[in-house]
Amino acid sequence: MNKQQNILIIGAGLCGSLLALRLGQRGYNVSVYEMRPDLRKVDISAGRSINLAFSDRGNKAMKLVGIEDKVKALCIPMNGRMIHDKEGHTFLSNYSGRDHEYINSISRGGLNALLLDEAEKHKNVSIYFNKKCKSVDFKKTTALFKDYETKSEFIEDADVIIATDGAGSAMRKSYYLAKKFLFSFSQDYLTHGYKELSILPTKTGDYKTYKNALHIWPRGRFMLIALPNLDGSFTVTLFLSYNEGAYNFNNLTTPEIVSEFFQKEFPDALQLMPNLIEDFFNNPTAALGTVKCSPWHYKGNTLLMGDSAHAIVPFYGQGMNASFEDVVEFDAVLDQGLENWEAVFKTYEATRKRDTDAIADLAIDNFHEMKDHVANPIFQKKRKLEMALEENFPDEYSSKYSLVTFNEDINYHEAMTRGRAQDKAILNMIADRDISSTFDMTKEELKIILEKVKTETQEILEEGKIIGLKNC
Ligand code: FAD
Repeated sequence: MNKQQNILIIGAGLCGSLLALRLGQRGYNVSVYEMRPDLRKVDISAGRSINLAFSDRGNKAMKLVGIEDKVKALCIPMNGRMIHDKEGHTFLSNYSGRDHEYINSISRGGLNALLLDEAEKHKNVSIYFNKKCKSVDFKKTTALFKDYETKSEFIEDADVIIATDGAGSAMRKSYYLAKKFLFSFSQDYLTHGYKELSILPTKTGDYKTYKNALHIWPRGRFMLIALPNLDGSFTVTLFLSYNEGAYNFNNLTTPEIVSEFFQKEFPDALQLMPNLIEDFFNNPTAALGTVKCSPWHYKGNTLLMGDSAHAIVPFYGQGMNASFEDVVEFDAVLDQGLENWEAVFKTYEATRKRDTDAIADLAIDNFHEMKDHVANPIFQKKRKLEMALEENFPDEYSSKYSLVTFNEDINYHEAMTRGRAQDKAILNMIADRDISSTFDMTKEELKIILEKVKTETQEILEEGKIIGLKNC
C-alpha cells in the first residue's frame, strides 16, 4: 500500500498517540485530532485514572517504537499486592515467583506526553488539539469536527480513518446510529463506580507507606487500592457500589458519614489521608463498564482501536496494555504486505477480537478476586503454592496472572484458557490435601505437585471442562 496515504486518527490519548508514532515511523502521512487541549501545555487531568499499572504487553509496544528506556524512567516497580486488613495488618503477596517479573505504576499524563513528543518528532505527523469529532461518514471516509477555539465546524477527509477516541467513541456511535451494516454492540456497567483520592507525601517528600507495591484494602463488597507516584504521593481509588450495602456512593453524602466509613473500614489508610474529605467531595465519581462490539471496521475505510473497540474494567490493569498491544498486532499485520486496507483491517480484527474479549472477561473475574478473594485463606494458599512453583520451576510453571501479565508472547485468549484450567487443577489439589505448609516442602514434593497440576490441567483442557470456569 502506498505510504503517501493520509491517515486520520481521532483521539490523541494513549492508543492514538502511540499509533501516530508508529505509523509516522512507517512513513504514512498522519493527522491526529484530539478534543482536549494539549496536556503538555495546559494543566488538565489526563482523564480517567491519574496513574496506571503498566506491564509487559505495554512494554512490548514501547520496544517496537524504540522508547523503552524513556518509559522506564517514568515507572515505579510494584513487586506485589500489599494487602491491608481491617486491623491494619499487612502482608505482601508477590505477583510472581520470578524476580524479574513485576508491574509498574506510571503516570497517565507523563506517558501520554512522552508519546505525543515522540510522535511529533516525525515531520509526517501533525497533531491538532481542541478539535472534537462529532461524527464519521464511514462510506465517504470523512469526519466532522467542532473546533473549540474558533467555535466552527469543519470536515476532514482521508484515505483511512482510525478512531482511538476511547470508551465513548464518536465513530462507534456513527456505526451504531447509521444502521448501514450489521453492527453488534454491548455496554455492561458494573454496579460499582470509582472515586480517586490521594495519600500525599510526607513534608520531606517521602512515601507514607511502602512504595513498591499495589496496595489493596479488600473488603468483600468494595475495596480501596493505591498506586505510587514519582513525587512521593499515592493515587488512591475507592471502588464502591452506587446503591447497595450499608455504605455506598449514594449515601456517602456528608463529611461525617465519609469519615465514619473510612474509620470503620480503612482505619490505617485514613491515618495517611488527612485530605480525605476534601478529595472525596472535590473529585467525581465515575462509572465502570465493558464495551464489546463488532465489526471494528467498515470495509477498508475506517477502524476502531483501543478502548473505542474494547473498553474493559480496570481490575487486571490491562486496558492500556491491551490498547498498546493493539498497535503491535496491527503493525505485524501491516508487515504482511496485504493488498489493501480492507484486507489489513479484516486480518487484524480476525485474531485480535478473540483476545480482547478474553481480557474483558478476565478483568471482570479479577474484580471479584481483588475486592474479596485475596483475603480468603484458600486463595492465599493457592497463591503461596503458585509462588513456590514459579520460584522452584521458573521455566515450567506460570500462574494465570503471570500468563496474562508477563507472557506477552502468549495471546490473552490462550492465557485465559490455560490459566483457568490451571486454577481448577490447583484448587482440586488444595481440596485433596493440606498444603498450608508450602514453605516447608522439599523441591521433590513440589515437583510431584507440579506434575499433577500439569497432568490435570491438560486433562481439563482436553475435556473442555473449563467452560464457565471463573477465578477462584
Ligand atoms: P483513552 O485513553 O480514553 O483516550 C481517548 C482519547 O480520545 C482522549 O485523549 C480523549 O480526549 C479523546 N477523545 C474522546 N472523544 C473524542 C472525540 N469525539 N474527538 C476527538 N477526541 C476524542 N489500563 C491499564 O493498562 N492499567 C491500569 O492500571 C488501568 N487502570 C485504569 C483505572 C481506571 C479507573 C480506568 C477508568 C481505566 C484504567 N485502565 C488501565 C484502562 C485505560 O485507561 C484505557 O484502557 C486506556 O486509556 C485506553 O486508551 P485509549 O487511547 O484507547 O483511550
